[in-house]
Amino acid sequence: MRPKQRILSAPVYQPGKPIDDVKREFGLTEVIKLASNENPYGCSPKAKEAIAAQLDSLALYPDGASLQLRWDLADFLGVKPEQLMFGNGSDEIVLMISRAYLEPGTNTVMATPTFSQYRSNAMVEGAELIEVPLKDGVHDLEAMASAINGQTRVVWVCNPNNPSGTIVGTSELEAFLKKVPKDVLVVMDEAYYEYVVDEAYPQTIPMLAQYPNLIILRTFSKIYGLATLRVGYGIASEEIISHLDHVREPFNTSSLGQAAARAALKDQEFVKECSRRNREGLKQLTDRFDEWGLSYYPSQTNFVLVNLNLDSDEVFKQLLQQGIIVRSGKALGFPGYQRITVGTAEQNEKVLQALANIVVGAGK
Ligand SMILES: *Cc1c(COP(=O)(O)O)cnc(C)c1O
Repeated sequence: MRPKQRILSAPVYQPGKPIDDVKREFGLTEVIKLASNENPYGCSPKAKEAIAAQLDSLALYPDGASLQLRWDLADFLGVKPEQLMFGNGSDEIVLMISRAYLEPGTNTVMATPTFSQYRSNAMVEGAELIEVPLKDGVHDLEAMASAINGQTRVVWVCNPNNPSGTIVGTSELEAFLKKVPKDVLVVMDEAYYEYVVDEAYPQTIPMLAQYPNLIILRTFSKIYGLATLRVGYGIASEEIISHLDHVREPFNTSSLGQAAARAALKDQEFVKECSRRNREGLKQLTDRFDEWGLSYYPSQTNFVLVNLNLDSDEVFKQLLQQGIIVRSGKALGFPGYQRITVGTAEQNEKVLQALANIVVGAGK
């Protein structure tokens, strides 16, 4: 076979290790997965009821336009229904943006390290990558604006950033948006929007009126706890949405996903409670890191990137043997670190116990 050469240079996504794999490999009955920033409290019970009500319609194709979810979400966000694009996870919106705007001869600007999918989709499209190092774990928006040139089509801002958990604030973002040429698309990936508590965090929907080159990505996979159903969305000008519509697969979200997302959206109490518990869990982890004198990035998400100053892959393996799956910082561009998803209080205590042995064992 003769595949397109550039797809072979694009990395294959490395997911968090599945629970069943680890159980089998190490003969464990109990395994905790704190590797993929999933919600440890699951999803709203209302979402489960909504899925059950769909079970007699599995033979039918879903509504490709997601009309009911579109109306509900437009109402909830205060935007027009035509300003929304749904994807098979926000991952698919990243793919659609790349497919619609990038090609050989163009370039795209992003931070490094950041979410891996911007890079791999740009490589598949044959666009040049311009990667701007984070400054103290935060997007360097000034340097990113300076990196834009006549061939730039898309700039990615992951806010909060995965894997560092940090945010850029309203004033930095506004200064940046003023500098970006009007024909360059700015993608604000806000997968962790509902977890953020810092008041400096920008409210980007009102900015759409002033910046028609902006698209905001959010998802039902993280705080809404529906990762398996793959529903993400983009909010943008009608013009941008119309471009993405040209590259959208006809039935890219399922009826189950749409129904669950609608029900989950209505249960904002669940969202608030998960956000509150997450801040408690984050404090539980970082208080202990402080005690141990470990440094970590200030997180506005449901994960924390902590510097153990030990071989990341080695620590990852040691935790795995104890039935705890986290993410080795090495693969994420932070050698010496681990990225740990905030779990329930009990799960956090288990990971802290396991880490205590490793940190003490290393003479820290
Ligand atoms: C998890 C994550 C996504 C993808 O979420 P899906 O909607 O499940 O595809 C997108 N961006 C970032 C930064 C993420 O961490």
